[in-house]
Amino acid sequence: MTQVKSEEQSFKHISIAGIEGKRFDISIQNGRFASVTESVTQNDNPSPPGTDLWISPGVIDLHTHLAWTDFDHADQLKRDSHEVEVMQAQAFAATLRTGVTTARDAGGMLPSTARHLAQHYQHPLRVETSSEMLGAADARGVKHLEQRLNGIFDTGAGWIKIMATGGLGAPTEQVLDPVFSEEEFAFIVRHAHDHHKKVLVHTWGGVTIDWSIQAGVESVEHGMFLSEDQAGRLAQSRTAFVPTTSIYRIAADPKGVLALPTVISDRAARAAEAHSIAIGYAKRAGVLFGFGTDYATPSLHGYNLQELDTLIDYGLTRAEAWQSATTNAAEILGSANELGQIAEGYIADAIIFNDDPYQTKNADQLRESIVSVIIGAQKP
Ligand SMILES: [Zn+2]
Repeated sequence: MTQVKSEEQSFKHISIAGIEGKRFDISIQNGRFASVTESVTQNDNPSPPGTDLWISPGVIDLHTHLAWTDFDHADQLKRDSHEVEVMQAQAFAATLRTGVTTARDAGGMLPSTARHLAQHYQHPLRVETSSEMLGAADARGVKHLEQRLNGIFDTGAGWIKIMATGGLGAPTEQVLDPVFSEEEFAFIVRHAHDHHKKVLVHTWGGVTIDWSIQAGVESVEHGMFLSEDQAGRLAQSRTAFVPTTSIYRIAADPKGVLALPTVISDRAARAAEAHSIAIGYAKRAGVLFGFGTDYATPSLHGYNLQELDTLIDYGLTRAEAWQSATTNAAEILGSANELGQIAEGYIADAIIFNDDPYQTKNADQLRESIVSVIIGAQKP
């Protein structure tokens, strides 16, 4: 696997993932697609078997935790800071190698750390950050929240992350209880938007999904207990839904890579079952789906494409799953005009495959068919 930071490159007679029966000639200049034109057919000169290539836009993972090294935060605190940094750099490398070229970090990573890792270790992953998450310890009124938000703004993060409900750590009967009051929640979103920050909300469901829609947040994360009615309102308001489905399936397997205690894996199993229903509601309502993994440990970084498999198992078409990771994800980041497509003028973030990515059986096969990952121009 070669990873190229591409200034100039060109491909002849290559297929674009998801477009059947056509080949393209593509050139990249200054890290952007300079031309994408349909190839003149070469019937008398077919390419030798095994030499066909496919190109897709680089995958955008809207929910990672690249700063975390352990499932339990207490375990990270036992590591020394250099070891943590090396592990974070490895997470960047593994994420890039699997074709994820842009990541939105959903908590834990400071913009300064992301810049340092990309530059010092030469892993040019594009990372949008949300710095520290706002959670239960911050439900101490609007004055406190204002200070906390101002501190996060100072880090340069582009996103504010609200932990609006519990998660795998919360008892089943309390997991949908709101962490903040409605007033606190509305204040966070308003103050963030006043400072041109976008907002992503961790919520498993319940009233905090209603609050998210009312307050106009940019994206709702997880949402496995989303109701059919809420799905309709998410669609209407064009609030993005980043369900992060695969992590709950992984966590539900007590013998899986996370090997969690039964009490946690049982909660994850219940979440996974609910997810398949929520995905159905959201798909039928026409909700804007975003691809996100919530991967946070060395055993998960680099396996991000598994999320495509789970989304498809829960009812999205292959094309819809890919859209969630490319065009939709770019829209959710506000970068629809320069990321997420193989199109002239777009930043040349791309994956080259030696097998049709729309025909591969699963994420393992997809990962093995990656020939190279291309990182295009840095944004101005
Ligand atoms: Zn998360």
